[in-house]
Amino acid sequence: MIPGTFDYHRPATVEDAVALLTKLGEDANILAGGHSLIPLMKTRLASPEHLVDLSGIGNLKGITVNGDEIVIGAMTTQFELITSDELARNIPIIAETSRLIADPQIRYKGTFGGNVANGDPGNDMPALMMCLGATYSISGPNGSRDVAAREFYHGAYYTALEHGDIVTAVRIPIPAAGHGYAYEKLKRKVGDYATAAAAVVITMVGGKCTSASIGLTNVSETPLWASDAASLLVGTSLDKASVDAAVFAAEAITNPASDMRGPAEYRTKMAGVMVRRATERAQSRAKG
Ligand code: FAD
Repeated sequence: MIPGTFDYHRPATVEDAVALLTKLGEDANILAGGHSLIPLMKTRLASPEHLVDLSGIGNLKGITVNGDEIVIGAMTTQFELITSDELARNIPIIAETSRLIADPQIRYKGTFGGNVANGDPGNDMPALMMCLGATYSISGPNGSRDVAAREFYHGAYYTALEHGDIVTAVRIPIPAAGHGYAYEKLKRKVGDYATAAAAVVITMVGGKCTSASIGLTNVSETPLWASDAASLLVGTSLDKASVDAAVFAAEAITNPASDMRGPAEYRTKMAGVMVRRATERAQSRAKG
């Protein structure tokens, strides 16, 4: 339970961090909050020879409104997401989801950027970012680029990132005023990863659903954006038949592993239950 030896680096700028990662090569890894990486190092599932700690880079932190989107710096902690007035006003599902991550100690140190960049399908933020249509800003050896969250996750721990790339910020379009939202997560106990979880964001006008988006956590090798399921809700009053159809469509795209959280069939069904509950709660919160 003791990590192997490594050299520690604490650059002061993104440019220096990218240069260091490039120079040190594949034996170097980024350290953010450390709450995914350090457990892997303790069990020797990861043995980087160099850790490049991003905590000395001041401009990677913060939550700002920029026109019709919110920009969250990668080193913003999960605790800071919960306590942000800007997020509470504009995208409250982010705080709701953050409160369901791990436990307070982990949320004080664990970062938003680490959560989305890690590529663990059990992390809660990636499916939410897919649901919200977020974009990741990335700096790397070949300059800067943007990648949509919906294009970012390629497999378990396999993402659009290449060696030397750093997620610097996440840009999230602010949903329409009065939107309904809910993140529902089934877990065995406080601090556990999801058996299955669903993020739902909808808008309602005159009792009809005019837009819907659904993300699913930990029911496949990657987080999932359930676009077909969501489209079955649009144009309906979210009556039982429409929600049943969306639940069925969401279950159909899952491919969970059988593990200590339950057999695959059970986890698929629980994904459907989470979609139903999140849709009902989102509807109860939507104005219009
Ligand atoms: P680190 O551990 O420092 O890094 C994780 C990985 O991402 C590393 O490979 C690192 O190189 C890379 N990385 C980090 N930041 C960047 C960046 N800006 N750009 C590119 N790559 C980067 N998470 C959940 O979502 N839900 C849970 O229920 C949950 N439960 C947990 C329970 C326990 C007991 C523990 C220990 C952790 C749990 N987590 C959970 C994980 C936690 O949220 C982590 O904090 C998070 O996954 C990673 O963030 P971090 O800042 O700690 O990243």
